[in-house]
Amino acid sequence: MTATDQQIAFIGLGNMGSGMAANLAKAGFSVSAFDLDPAAVAAVADAGVKAEASAAEAVRTAQVVITMLPAGQHVRQVVEESVLGGLSQGGLLIDCSTIDVATAREIAARAAEHGLAAVDAPVSGGVAAAQAGGLTFMVGGSEGAFTRAQPILSAMGKAVIHAGEAGAGQAAKICNNMLLAITMIGTCEAFAMAQRLGLDPQRFFDISSRASGQNWSMTSYCPVPGPVPQSPANRGYQPGFAGAMMLKDLKLALQAASQSGASIPLGAHAETLYQLFVNQGGATQDFSGIFNLISGSTEHKP
Ligand code: NAD
Repeated sequence: MTATDQQIAFIGLGNMGSGMAANLAKAGFSVSAFDLDPAAVAAVADAGVKAEASAAEAVRTAQVVITMLPAGQHVRQVVEESVLGGLSQGGLLIDCSTIDVATAREIAARAAEHGLAAVDAPVSGGVAAAQAGGLTFMVGGSEGAFTRAQPILSAMGKAVIHAGEAGAGQAAKICNNMLLAITMIGTCEAFAMAQRLGLDPQRFFDISSRASGQNWSMTSYCPVPGPVPQSPANRGYQPGFAGAMMLKDLKLALQAASQSGASIPLGAHAETLYQLFVNQGGATQDFSGIFNLISGSTEHKP
């Protein structure tokens, strides 16, 4: 059996899942799909994805199930109600949602009890990358499960990296995004202070991007308009990566820190600041829009 002979059930056709399911169909996989929102199911039919009336129906004839759902409780519910009893022994579960590490491990253990292989495979990259097949997957699970998931994930992404055992994909995702939040806030603070000290933002960028303060939030995603033309700051902080999504990932980081005993003082502070940003209307803005909160400036407000 070649990879594309496998039938895939795709559950969760939201902003991310719709493009991912379409890319699987485009790559030659047979894909049946379900979402609680009938309009979302109807929308992927044009891309060659078969619409099903329930998750159980979609799973019935599949060898592989992919979930792309909002949070851990949704994944647990779909897995318990439709996957464990519905997917045949030896089947493979791939959860691409961003969820907490503990639930990811629990789901992998439940799958193993039912003779199923499972990987957690959260993604880096937003809606545009999901549509273009340009996602990066961070995968947690056994070597065997990873090897089976790889050709399927490759049809939806540009990089598929084995992070370690069950839960390791989620661990990599939340550690990375916590670091991203911290470097973004630090970059905003530096640009805001530079401005108050009378430095031109472009001049400060030219210096710091070639000095030891250089980081991705500055050089690829600069939070002030001007220095990096493709950054959301130049289009009124349209996401990109929404403030609400960053806050969700920071809350997962706090939970993981509390469960593992890790000390994350800057991560915790970042969560407080992103909560404030979201409370003040930043939920649907790009996460770099926190610059306005930190600088106290209204000059670049969307
Ligand atoms: P979304 O809310 O747009 O889509 C989730 C979909 O799941 C919805 O269509 C909803 O109807 C469906 N759903 C919920 N419960 C269901 C159930 N029981 N059965 C069937 N369908 C159900 O979310 P999204 O933006 O596509 O994100 C999905 C996941 O990807 C999240 O975990 C998110 O954190 C992660 N993620 C999102 C982005 C992004 O930029 N949007 C980037 C990286 C990771």
